[in-house]
Amino acid sequence: MTPKNSVSLPDLAVSIKGLVKIYAGNKSQPAPKLAIDHVDLAIPRGGIFGLLGPNGAGKSTLINILAQLVRKTEGHVKIWDIDLDADPRHAAAAIGVVPQELNIDPFFTPRDLLDLQAGMYGVPKAERRTMELLEALSLGDKAGSYARTLSGGMRRRLMVAKAMVHNPPVLVLDEPTAGVDVELRQQLWAYVRELNKSGVTVLLTTHYLEEAEELCDQIAIINHGKVIACEPTSTLVSRLDRKEIVITVGADLTEAPAALAGFDPVLAGPRRLKLHYRPSETKVGAVLDAIRATHLEIVDLSTVESDLEDIFLELTRRQPQSA
Ligand code: ADP
Ligand code: MG
Repeated sequence: MTPKNSVSLPDLAVSIKGLVKIYAGNKSQPAPKLAIDHVDLAIPRGGIFGLLGPNGAGKSTLINILAQLVRKTEGHVKIWDIDLDADPRHAAAAIGVVPQELNIDPFFTPRDLLDLQAGMYGVPKAERRTMELLEALSLGDKAGSYARTLSGGMRRRLMVAKAMVHNPPVLVLDEPTAGVDVELRQQLWAYVRELNKSGVTVLLTTHYLEEAEELCDQIAIINHGKVIACEPTSTLVSRLDRKEIVITVGADLTEAPAALAGFDPVLAGPRRLKLHYRPSETKVGAVLDAIRATHLEIVDLSTVESDLEDIFLELTRRQPQSA
């Protein structure tokens, strides 16, 4: 082993600048497709980073560019400070990728598959950790079974083991929860967290907000090939500190009463008024007191709590549809 203090670790696990991907048209889709639209992304070393976006946003395209499965049209990519164009082999050695599509030869056993992968990356026999990896992913007892007998969840975990055979400092998982049931999902997350604790930087894509919120310390939101937000999960979630009170009044209003101006009022109909407040700063009692002070007749009242879904919708709605 190289002594740690003789190697300076990069601040960024992955650095992406001005990335563009245009897929050429084909028979079924004759028009060229702009899948990645000038993306800049800095993924710090040591964390779990989530790339969140709806289907078709460009997540797999971005991941597959990192994995060198898709050729970028423009831009610069560095993995572990190694430029993808200047040194593709070393860039590949720094990253392990679990693709969205699981193509596993049905007649290989997990043990064969990992040995083959280790061979491809030039990992010497003495340094191979085949059984250790399989056991870590609860596949120890399946080491000699044909892959075709494995369930979807087992296959996903096998692909994680395969991505880790060369011990890369960066692990990328593209929609890792697809086809994995709840219990195994927890196991997979536990393993991902463990790897992360041991120093592996994790990048995962998902279209599940909950997953990103639970697992990631930083989240980038991608839509139509553009990154529209990138912040620590806590910052993103703190935007959730907003509640809405909807009141129905007994007479038509033409505008919100001035006394309620501090609650970001929105007239949602002649008799419907929406008010907003931050629960961390304002007690709901204060909002109610202010409403009462206006002497409006309150016919009905309800509250609405926002969640990450709302932020996501708000952010993605602002973006025009690309062709
Ligand atoms: P995501 O993984 O976020 O669902 P993808 O990266 O798979 O998104 O796709 C982004 C866009 O690029 C989509 O509009 C998709 O149809 C298109 N696309 C993906 N792969 C190809 C391809 N090989 N040829 C043409 N278009 C593609
Ligand atoms: Mg995808």
